[in-house]
Amino acid sequence: QPVLAVVGRPNVGKSTLVNRIIGRREAVVQDVPGVTRDRVAYDAYWGGRKFTLVDTGGWEPDATGLQASVAAQAELAMQTADAVLLVIDASVGATATDEAASKVLRRSKKPVLLVANKVDDDRLLADTASLWSLGLGEPHPVSALHGRSSGDLLDAILKTLPEAPREGVAATSGPRRVALVGKPNVGKSSLLNKLSGEERSVVDSVAGTTVDPVDSLVELDGETWRFIDTAGLRKRVNFAAGAEYYASLRTKTAIDAAEVAVVLLDAGEPISEQDLRVLTMVVEAGRACVLVFNKWDLVDEDRRHAMVRELERGLVRVPWAEKVNVSALTGRSVRKIAPALRTALASWDKRVPTGQLNAWLSDLIAATPPPVRGGKQPKVLFATQAGIRPPTLVLFTTGFLEAGYRRFIERKFRERFGFEGSPVRVNVRVRE
Ligand code: GDP
Repeated sequence: QPVLAVVGRPNVGKSTLVNRIIGRREAVVQDVPGVTRDRVAYDAYWGGRKFTLVDTGGWEPDATGLQASVAAQAELAMQTADAVLLVIDASVGATATDEAASKVLRRSKKPVLLVANKVDDDRLLADTASLWSLGLGEPHPVSALHGRSSGDLLDAILKTLPEAPREGVAATSGPRRVALVGKPNVGKSSLLNKLSGEERSVVDSVAGTTVDPVDSLVELDGETWRFIDTAGLRKRVNFAAGAEYYASLRTKTAIDAAEVAVVLLDAGEPISEQDLRVLTMVVEAGRACVLVFNKWDLVDEDRRHAMVRELERGLVRVPWAEKVNVSALTGRSVRKIAPALRTALASWDKRVPTGQLNAWLSDLIAATPPPVRGGKQPKVLFATQAGIRPPTLVLFTTGFLEAGYRRFIERKFRERFGFEGSPVRVNVRVRE
């Protein structure tokens, strides 16, 4: 979702404006320089659109002087946000500090809106015309305190913001889409038969249904699921030349068409290259995932012990995936698959509100700051969960974050907010 930053001198009413926009009536956070707040980013909605609102008050640096610090704030805002609001106190007029901030923002290629705040009565309205001199276009007079004209301001804001990025995978109505994938002979068709046979409500390739004839509708645990591209599973295909290539292509297509993948593994054998290729496809496609270990009826005590170490090494890419042990032959535990699918999809669809996310993040960063790089300490300014399906975090920073630190953030994020069964992407947006 697009990011809008609010910039301005202390006491011009930034926080009041932020509260006004996000529709919060709580006591205003004191707008004092040097006060570090524990949260700076909020979710905001207007006219059916959603965006992240960033109050740059929390970034105010140390005693570099007001003018320099507001200019630095404007600089950061310009580089991290999609649009910037510069707030001026209309009852005071443009100060040297406002001019310094404007000068920075005039270089911006991104939209900048000039907000003349504290226009509580018409007497001040005429004075706002003088703010044209800041070179940021038309001043928008508002009273954040009384709400005056803030609706007009929001309309103007929305016009400047880029379209929100879509969900990774668009939500569709109808049954949730499952890809049943795994290497040949792992038991895919046996499992599908067991799942559909047992529940006795398969609607497979029935004329008049909207189901693609290659898909199967299977009822599991009181819910209908759409298993993607199962035609090949039901009619055994022969192993002609190139069959493996086509099988792999088909797997990829099924994963892309699905929301969640059931990756079937043979519990009797070590995890193979072929298994890892399938897992990689799922992770790279950003799909939710459940690991199903089949042929559990063949697993004895020795095998079980051997598996523990194998799994630790073999599944490093998907430590977050739930594991279910089944036997397609005997039907053992196959009923555990549906709840695992549900959990994975709930994680895949989940969004953590920006306020909650930043409250958690600022504590985490304070306790474990990013490693210094090239003699500089990168600062993490704020984060938003920019997308779902799969969940995607964007961290706004002043420097590169090493892969190890990004993984640390992902791990802590999962510890705090869950997300079992779903990949989580962590992207970093660095000021240039
Ligand atoms: P696919 O290629 O993945 O569709 O695998 P199939 O479903 O055709 O199964 C391959 C072979 O494994 C067949 O001989 C099945 O009978 C056997 N098989 C499948 N599931 C199990 C299981 O849970 N236990 C045992 N012992 N054999 C199984």
